[in-house]
Amino acid sequence: MEHQDCIRVLVLANQKGGVGKTTTAINLGTALAAIGETVLIVDLDPQGNASTGLGIDPSKRKVSTYDVLTGQKTLAAAIQSTVVPRLYIVPSTMDLLGLELSIADHVDRSFKLKHALAVFANDNKSRSDKITYVLIDCPPSLNLLTINGLAASDSVLVPLQCEFFALEGLSQLLSTVEHVKRSLNPALTIHGVVLTMFDGRNNLASQVVADVRSFLGKKVYETIIPRNVRVSEAPSYGKPVLLYDLKCTGSQAYLKLASEVIQRERELRAA
Ligand code: ADP
Ligand code: MG
Repeated sequence: MEHQDCIRVLVLANQKGGVGKTTTAINLGTALAAIGETVLIVDLDPQGNASTGLGIDPSKRKVSTYDVLTGQKTLAAAIQSTVVPRLYIVPSTMDLLGLELSIADHVDRSFKLKHALAVFANDNKSRSDKITYVLIDCPPSLNLLTINGLAASDSVLVPLQCEFFALEGLSQLLSTVEHVKRSLNPALTIHGVVLTMFDGRNNLASQVVADVRSFLGKKVYETIIPRNVRVSEAPSYGKPVLLYDLKCTGSQAYLKLASEVIQRERELRAA
């Protein structure tokens, strides 16, 4: 495959809610687009927070992830542009809640997104702005949607909140990733763990960072996303924080994370 045709697919997964999956999908996606990549976010969460946070009104979600996963529409037909140049999204709707039931007896139920992305790889070749990164935003659960995300991806990016129970639940996620590797997607790797919502005034947070680094070593990105009120305000304006307040610490951290992600990609490709 030609290098320029290659799409990297990263899935943001953690079965805990509120750890920064969606915030990272939106803002890492925006930061990657800002440094020249062309990014597609696939919203796999029925809550549709990534879609809302990127200003896609529910009334404008005529074609959604549900239609793609049920095979009624192609991924290409579901792609929408956002307020950010070179950042696209496939929005989600509450319909996704019913997906598990509607495909439960399909033998390929875990591969719906993988198939859609495989078809899209061909459509991408005729796009004027070819997608280079796909970021998949998962729901807070290890359900069939998240399994579809893991089965369709090259790598997993795990957002981990800097709090006392950060590591709790991580082993369950890692064993799910191992299971998916063995059964559905042998090439799946862990891209990295990103620590989120770090509060420097909180001694415990620094201890959590030290613990996570000693447990996971190099898998943890050097960039730590600070807790920053601008980050939490931005979605209510339908904007990534990088458009809302480029200078704030949250925006700067996501730009740093994006360059680290690209650096790791180069290393993975060279390996
Ligand atoms: P998840 O997708 O894992 O459920 P979210 O990305 O939706 O988590 O984040 C949960 C909440 O925390 C949201 O209200 C979000 O705005 C807020 N949040 C996320 N990251 C930060 C941050 N770095 N600083 C402040 N608030 C944040
Ligand atoms: Mg979310």
